[in-house]
Amino acid sequence: MIEEKKFSKYLTDVCLSELCRVLEYKAKYYGKRYIQIDSYYPSSQECSKCGYKNEGVKDLSVRNWLCPECGSVHDRDINASQNILFEGIKKYVKELI
Ligand SMILES: [Zn+2]
Repeated sequence: MIEEKKFSKYLTDVCLSELCRVLEYKAKYYGKRYIQIDSYYPSSQECSKCGYKNEGVKDLSVRNWLCPECGSVHDRDINASQNILFEGIKKYVKELI
């Protein structure tokens, strides 16, 4: 069972790595910019509305959460995707300055 988990994690890492490689290649091919954010960025834990960091969202079983600061209700994946977009825009703007 442990070997299956290790192999599954390996496959996930390889697939993500390959996806990133292809995205970077295609972006360059079409003259677009490829920006990769830190893989340890806590995209699921931060409120995309106010920036509050909710440590209780680390558990993958938590699919929705309520921000205690601003009252926003977040779908884990949608919130994470918005945070990743904002983080990418921040990196892009920093590169321009
Ligand atoms: Zn909030």
